[in-house]
Amino acid sequence: MNDTQQAILRILAETYPDAKPELNFSNPYETLVAVMLSAQCMDKQVNKVTPAVFRDFPDVASMAAIDADTLYPYVKSCGFKSKSQNIVSACRMIMDKFGGRVPDTMEALTSLPGVGRKTANVVLSTAFGRPAIAVDTHVFRVSNRLGLADADNVLDTEMQLRRVIPERDWSAAHHWLIFHGRRVCAARNPKCGGCPLNGLCKDYNTRKEMPHEPDALSL
Ligand code: SF4
Repeated sequence: MNDTQQAILRILAETYPDAKPELNFSNPYETLVAVMLSAQCMDKQVNKVTPAVFRDFPDVASMAAIDADTLYPYVKSCGFKSKSQNIVSACRMIMDKFGGRVPDTMEALTSLPGVGRKTANVVLSTAFGRPAIAVDTHVFRVSNRLGLADADNVLDTEMQLRRVIPERDWSAAHHWLIFHGRRVCAARNPKCGGCPLNGLCKDYNTRKEMPHEPDALSL
């Protein structure tokens, strides 16, 4: 980690001391379901539907016992029907292969239908307290703009962040970058003028040096 990256992480930590998951859940099963529902859906919307889901299907076994058509009316405001199918199928596999307990390894989690590396990292971090950096659209965009990473895909970004950020801060840094992406460093029209990181940001300072600042950012 160089001095600039160290300073960026310090400012992020100071700016977002309360950064934490915005999804509501209380155990690994609920975490898995909520994170699966959150793909391409706002956390606030997921939080609206999960109370009824967790009330009527409170554990892996009850979710594995229904079919996707039963779940879909509960979650249709969160997107595609395939999410219902994946959640039910994942719970059936957890019953069949993992004794009804949500697994706690990357390999096992990503063997579940509809669970990719990002979802698995969130579950490992928030449900099991493991150090993990889940790279979603905000983490990818913000970390590459800032210069914490220099990658064109999420896997390389995750690996670079794991090298730059101390392991004890991986989970927190994931939330710092999401908060910064949502509140300041939006995909379009980031608020660079008021950004506490603008003196350190690779993207901002590169654009400042250009004769004509581009209208749209590359990430
Ligand atoms: S200076 Fe602009 S591009 Fe850089 S992190 Fe801040 S808001 Fe994002």
